[in-house]
Amino acid sequence: MGKPTGFMEYKRQVPADRSPEERIKDWQEFHLHLSEDEQRTQGARCMDCGIPFCHSGILIAGMASGCPINNLIPEWNDLIYRGLWKEALLRLLKTNNFPEFTGRVCPAPCEGSCTLGINEPQVTIKVNECAIIDKAYEEGWIVPNPPKKRTGKKVAVIGSGPSGLACADQLNKAGHNVTVFERADRPGGLLMYGIPNMKLDKSLVLKRIDLMKAEGIEFIVNTQIGKDYPVERLKSEFDAIVLCGGATKPRDLTVEGRNLKGVHFAMEFLHANTKSLLDSNFQDEAYISAKGKDVIVIGGGDTGTDCVATSIRHGCNNVIQLEIMPKPAAERTADNPWPQWPKVLKVDYGQEEAIAIFGRDPREYCITAKKLVGDENGNVKEIHTIKVEWKKDANGRFGPVEIPGTEKVYPAQLVLLAMGFLGPEETLLKQLGVEQDARTNAKSEYGKFSTNVEGVFAAGDMRRGQSLVVWAINEGRGAARECDRYLMGYTNLP
Ligand SMILES: Cc1cc2nc3c(=O)[nH]c(=O)nc-3n(C[C@H](O)[C@H](O)[C@H](O)COP(=O)(O)OP(=O)(O)OC[C@H]3O[C@@H](n4cnc5c(N)ncnc54)[C@H](O)[C@@H]3O)c2cc1C
Ligand code: SF4
Repeated sequence: MGKPTGFMEYKRQVPADRSPEERIKDWQEFHLHLSEDEQRTQGARCMDCGIPFCHSGILIAGMASGCPINNLIPEWNDLIYRGLWKEALLRLLKTNNFPEFTGRVCPAPCEGSCTLGINEPQVTIKVNECAIIDKAYEEGWIVPNPPKKRTGKKVAVIGSGPSGLACADQLNKAGHNVTVFERADRPGGLLMYGIPNMKLDKSLVLKRIDLMKAEGIEFIVNTQIGKDYPVERLKSEFDAIVLCGGATKPRDLTVEGRNLKGVHFAMEFLHANTKSLLDSNFQDEAYISAKGKDVIVIGGGDTGTDCVATSIRHGCNNVIQLEIMPKPAAERTADNPWPQWPKVLKVDYGQEEAIAIFGRDPREYCITAKKLVGDENGNVKEIHTIKVEWKKDANGRFGPVEIPGTEKVYPAQLVLLAMGFLGPEETLLKQLGVEQDARTNAKSEYGKFSTNVEGVFAAGDMRRGQSLVVWAINEGRGAARECDRYLMGYTNLP
């Protein structure tokens, strides 16, 4: 620890965001940077405490506490404070293949378990991480580093989201010839077509892919395994296969009026939006527009927030976000102590923008849709809702119970369903004969990542269900390690 008294002397400082009024006029990232001196001061706040939880990545009460990829956080905080940026980068890259992604989009479970957070604002771990990698790109330190030797083994990675990319990166480092197959027209998975550009600039995703190509990884896009490329061919051409296809099956809304025009899954809306932005800066009009519409987003999570922010950038008339769960507490409750993940209310960028434009937080809690009503042309025009309260049933399980007399009708010309995901698509798993677990995910034990089919591994959302970028990186690395062990009989991959 470079500055033993840093945590007492300096206050937490995160970079300012561009103002909501300004940033909703474009699709550029909204986070700014601290100056180098300010960032070093933030590094000095880390106490390098005796038993740091920030890098533990353990599950407490079912939630991640600490960094799931075990980033060596106290070490690089100290190195930043000393101005040893290159050394900080080398420590960071030991555990994280893509800090430019996590430094932008990770919800930072590390900060929830930072010891300073017991009685002071936590160390700015995520911002420090982002500053290290952004400086490294600026300084030209991130250059292709292909392996010195090749093993002659061929591995196919199916899916190019963060788990597939991390897996490919690690296997390539071990000297294997890696081909990544992606059915979309651009690689990146949800980094490309889920998370909007203002949260993660797509040029950063493409820059990383270019680097990986220069290191020898082959990317084949517009190719769906099991449809455009038979699995038998895949099995005959490759020595091992790693499935990283994500959990792309969305939860549907089963109410009257679901099939009206103007009702879409969130991913239809977000994917088309980013594709149109990248293809033509929206000139092709190949996206679902929210302009001038009353938008209802069903689902109060991060995907819903991305829909809110995207609708606002289109120039919607209004946006409401419906959430069936109760409003979280403003601060930690007694049954959610440090170092658990803090289940507290956060005002994310989309809500911040709605507050600035429409004067209110768009979220309504404890509310559910009863039916959707359309006009004479089959276009959705309103949503009928009712409030619920959460009660225990006869078996002691909590569930929503409708409250009579709380019915409400909202105008809606665009309804976006952001209610989570139900698991992976099954076609590929079935064709390969891969068993599925009770939640329909590819069945394979965490840490082993092998499926019931020899030489076939599974990682990321396809194995664990819809999760986070940082978990996808963790799983991609783990699957690469086990795949390498399978191919070589031993492994040196971390
Ligand atoms: C809208 C949205 C916003 C999110 N925001 C955040 C956030 O801010 N922070 C965060 O940490 N997490 C976020 N998440 C979650 C995070 O993006 C995922 O947990 C993560 O991307 C999972 O990575 P993955 O590699 O397992 O799968 P994915 O990223 O889903 O990638 C899977 C890829 O496999 C491809 N594929 C599937 N089947 C085939 C096939 N048969 N052949 C070829 N290709 C195939 C798919 O096209 C896809 O590109 C968000 C999720 C969504 C939906
Ligand atoms: S990857 Fe996420 S949890 Fe890990 S240090 Fe970075 S922000 Fe924290």
